[in-house]
Amino acid sequence: MTDSFDRTIDYVRIAVTDRCNLRCFYCMPAEGIPYEPKAHLLSYEEITRLLQVLGTLGFRKVRFTGGEPFLRKDFMQLLENTAGIDDFKSIHITSNGTLLQRHIPRLKELGITKINLSIDSLDKARFQKITRRDDFEKVMQTFHMLVDNGFKIKLNAVIMKGINTQDIIPLAELAKDYPVDVRFIEEMPFNGGYKENLEMYSARDIYADLKAHFSDMEKLPGKHGDTASLLSVPGYKGNIGVIAAFSRTFCNTCNRLRISSKGEIKSCLYDDGVFNIRDFMRSGVTDLELADKFRELIQLKPKDGFEAEKLRKAPKAAMQSMSSIGG
Ligand code: SAM
Ligand code: SF4
Repeated sequence: MTDSFDRTIDYVRIAVTDRCNLRCFYCMPAEGIPYEPKAHLLSYEEITRLLQVLGTLGFRKVRFTGGEPFLRKDFMQLLENTAGIDDFKSIHITSNGTLLQRHIPRLKELGITKINLSIDSLDKARFQKITRRDDFEKVMQTFHMLVDNGFKIKLNAVIMKGINTQDIIPLAELAKDYPVDVRFIEEMPFNGGYKENLEMYSARDIYADLKAHFSDMEKLPGKHGDTASLLSVPGYKGNIGVIAAFSRTFCNTCNRLRISSKGEIKSCLYDDGVFNIRDFMRSGVTDLELADKFRELIQLKPKDGFEAEKLRKAPKAAMQSMSSIGG
């Protein structure tokens, strides 16, 4: 499907839960965030149905995210269902890595091997300060288990001024010894009210740090839907990417639709939800009606994230938590 700006939309990101066992400060407040009641979340049968319909519209890639997707009890069931949908051969998961170790054998059997693991620091104390939890060793153990089992890992790190800029080079150097792609992400203002005006450490700043250290790094050509500017360092097993998530320089190649845990469709990360597909489904519509609704929603995709932000009706972006949007 193409949208009104002639972009091919074939990638859906679904937040399967708004719950999380970590409390990364850039994402969620330490406490007091109201979780959605279970009945408000899309059931795994509803998510499977949405994927089946999206498959008929040409969607080929899905990412399950959250909150922490492995907190959801029926998550493996959802993955099994999804692996059975022919149209979705590209199944991805974004996880904090604290709960997935025991699922590694089954994930391998299902052929679900593309995992984004969020690690913002290689320093235990800094990791703990950022996530407000003491899970550094467990997450690093998960990282090594995934590498040893041949998973295709992308490591996500949100870079924040005065917090973890010193981690940029050590994290990038993981791509030397391991076949992992490292992604540095600009902080965005979706933190559940922690801070409205961010002190930006921009994609440009991150790039400058990388360039100062890796003088021989080269730019790689982008692929369909890439949000990262990709870089390679000669001899490194993985590549390095910088995602201008706040500067929003990649909107002209956007290929995605987001569905929040309670079924809000976001046609752009920066909009405030354009339609509730859960309520629409629960009203008893047919698959054809669902497909038509998606066609209509895809045409509503704004030109870019700045446009989407202008159209917001709900409170400012910073009041929302990324845990309900999925990143
Ligand atoms: N819990 C999982 C995890 O942390 O990987 C999946 C959900 S999390 C919301 C998805 C991604 O969004 C993570 O890589 C996280 O670092 C990123 N993220 C969360 N809040 C963010 C923010 N305010 N700015 C930029 N990225 C953010
Ligand atoms: Fe949880 Fe992921 Fe948000 Fe951290 S970034 S609080 S792990 S949902």
